[in-house]
Amino acid sequence: MFFIVWAHKLILLWLGFAEQRLCSVCGQTRQFQLALQYKLFTIYWIFGAVSQKQYFNLCTVCKHGDKVEASQAEAQIQKNPIPFMHRWGLLVGVAAVVLLVVLSAVSS
Ligand SMILES: [Zn+2]
Repeated sequence: MFFIVWAHKLILLWLGFAEQRLCSVCGQTRQFQLALQYKLFTIYWIFGAVSQKQYFNLCTVCKHGDKVEASQAEAQIQKNPIPFMHRWGLLVGVAAVVLLVVLSAVSS
């Protein structure tokens, strides 16, 4: 029997660039950091694809804060912080299936 396991997940990555300021939710001076939140779609928990991403400047205690423009946030970070298999995993999985089909056709 063959079945496909798939899932959606919301991921939050802390990217650093800390600053101290007053948090309106906590009511105290807190550390704020740049964070990236994205929706991850996976097949068999390994082969992923990012469906939506947003940058925020969040309080590290209560996780409330402001949205940051992607162009502004990406100017601060040096490389894409999303792991390879989250960005390209689905494509890797499709390529592996195609490769297996081709190899089985060639060998038979
Ligand atoms: Zn807070």
